[in-house]
Amino acid sequence: LVVPDFASFCTEIDQLYAELLTDTRGAVADYIPQLARVDPDQFAIAVCTVDGQRHVVGDASSKFCVQSVSKAVSYCLALEEHGPDVVHQHIGREPSGVSFNSLTLNKSGRPHNPMINAGAIMSCSLIKPKDNLADRFDHVSDTWKRLAGGRPVGFHNSVYLSERDTADRNFALGYSMREQHAFPAGTDLVQTLEFYFQSCSVELDAEMMAIAAATFADGGICPLTGDKVFNTQTVQHCLSLMSSCGMYDFSGEFAFTIGLPAKSGVSGALMVVVPGLMGICVWSPRLGNTVRGIEFCRKLVERYNVHPHDAA
Ligand code: GLU
Repeated sequence: LVVPDFASFCTEIDQLYAELLTDTRGAVADYIPQLARVDPDQFAIAVCTVDGQRHVVGDASSKFCVQSVSKAVSYCLALEEHGPDVVHQHIGREPSGVSFNSLTLNKSGRPHNPMINAGAIMSCSLIKPKDNLADRFDHVSDTWKRLAGGRPVGFHNSVYLSERDTADRNFALGYSMREQHAFPAGTDLVQTLEFYFQSCSVELDAEMMAIAAATFADGGICPLTGDKVFNTQTVQHCLSLMSSCGMYDFSGEFAFTIGLPAKSGVSGALMVVVPGLMGICVWSPRLGNTVRGIEFCRKLVERYNVHPHDAA
């Protein structure tokens, strides 16, 4: 067992937190005005095991936007609704090797994978497409709530508005996919983009995200409520793509050094899954991919044999 003694594991997490607190490398995302204004010093680490033990250190009650961590959930919702064959007619499953919002599609004119913007916009187009936007958003926020043990999630309206106002790149991606006939028939592009921006602006705190990660670690069953949020197959597909594509253009490096399925977002959120064992959230707004989040993962694999290809 990797965590034989939860109490000493928690002490170790607190030590890692203290070590990382002095690391102030990186800068907050500034391409969305409202994100540029967050306090860069905020920092929280939360863990939740698959049997529901929890530990939080730092700014545990501050809420932050999920941003690109939403991509994992949107992909799961698309899979649950349509299955992998249909979803992957619209989205590839290869790493792109380029940054999250690169203006690039694969050879078939489809997004490279669901973990970058183009792919997540496509996932959104596949989530309850016949319903109105209000019901579609409720579906996403209810899902986050269930993943997070039934706790109510928030919505950051000004981040949403700010993102929508500065969305030329995402519109460009949307139009280039439409030009390639990549969307399902009948897709309303502007609505799909709005839905994508809203999904990014869902707010949680670190403990809630760790519980959500633990739900992924436990094959889709929330360890606090026993609620089966996603099918085991859905979770397996999502974790595979988080492993290969979850960290933008750092995904290969992350897979090499850390090996765990993870998804980062420009708010500084990082959701890490240790399958069968626990979920972790690190939140620290200074980027490129949250600097403290990556360092935390490095230190974690140094101290514990959680790298999936660790034969020890
Ligand atoms: N809202 C962001 C965008 O589409 C998501 C980016 C991210 O977290 O990587 O620009």
